[in-house]
Amino acid sequence: MLQEKDIARLVQDIQKATSIVALTGAGMSIESGIASFRGPGGLWEKYDPEEYGHINTLRYEPDKAWIMLSEMQREILKAKPNRGHYALAELEKIGKLRAIITQNVDGLHHVAGNHQVIEFHGNLQSVSCMDCGYQVPSVEISLDCLPPSCAKCSGPVKPDAVFFGEAIPPEALTRSHNEASTCDLMLVIGTSALVYPAASMPEIAHDAGASVVEINPSATPLTGRISSYIVKGSSGEVLESVVQQLKSLETS
Ligand code: NAD
Ligand code: ZN
Repeated sequence: MLQEKDIARLVQDIQKATSIVALTGAGMSIESGIASFRGPGGLWEKYDPEEYGHINTLRYEPDKAWIMLSEMQREILKAKPNRGHYALAELEKIGKLRAIITQNVDGLHHVAGNHQVIEFHGNLQSVSCMDCGYQVPSVEISLDCLPPSCAKCSGPVKPDAVFFGEAIPPEALTRSHNEASTCDLMLVIGTSALVYPAASMPEIAHDAGASVVEINPSATPLTGRISSYIVKGSSGEVLESVVQQLKSLETS
C-alpha cells in the first residue's frame, strides 16, 4: 500500500526545495534484479561480502574473490534500470535533482540518464590492472577462466569498485561532502545507512540545516533521528508516483 499522505508531503517538499541531492543504496536496484547485501536472496547468502569483497582476498586469494566477483559482474551486466532510476533521471531533467550520491556499483543511474552522479564506491563497469593500470570495460574480460588477467602484462585485475579495506576515492568524498553540506533537501533512498562514510552524508546534510527524507520499506538508524520522515515503500513505486504528481502539478 502506498503511503499517499507521505507521498503528498514529499511532493510538496520537493516543490519547495531549491537544491535537492539523493543518496541511493542497494534497495534502489532490487527491482532491477540485483539483490541487496542485507535482504533475502542473491549471492550474499552464499558469500560474505566483507570477506569475499575485501581487498586482501583479491590480493592474496584472487581465485576466491573472483568466484563472487564473476557472479556479481554477470548479474550487473545484464541488469536494466527500473522505474525508480528513470524517475530520478526525470527529476534531474525537470531541474529538481542537483546530484545523486550512489553507493551502488551497478552504473544504472547513468544508464537511466542521470548526468550528475557521484559513484561513492566506484563501479563494476570497468576493470584495471593492479600492476600496470591498464583499464578495460568489464564486458571485454573473459569470466570463463578465473581469475582474469591483464591483456597487456598478465598482471592481476581488479574491478574499479571500492573494496572493503580500501579508502573512498578522495574526489568522490570531497564532491559528496560539498553536495551534502549545501543542499536543502536530501532524499535517502534504499540504503540501510550502516556503511560509513556514505552513511554520514545525511548527517552532514542535517547538521547543515537541510531536511532529510527517507524512501525505504524499513526504518534505518537515521529514522526519527536524522530524517524528518520516511516514506515506506519500494523506491520504484514511490519515486514513480512522486514524479508523476510533480509533473501533473507543473502542467496544471
Ligand atoms: P543494504 O543492502 O545494506 O540495504 C538495502 C536497503 O534497501 C535496506 O534498508 C532495505 O530496507 C532497503 N530496501 C529493500 N527493498 C527496497 C526497495 N524495493 N526499495 C527501496 N529500498 C529497499 O545496502 P546499502 O545501504 O546500499 O549498503 C551496502 C553496500 O552494498 C553498498 O556499499 C553498496 O556498494 C553495496 N551493494 C551494491 C549493490 C548494487 O550496486 N546494486 C548491490 C548490493 C550491494
Ligand atoms: Zn597490466
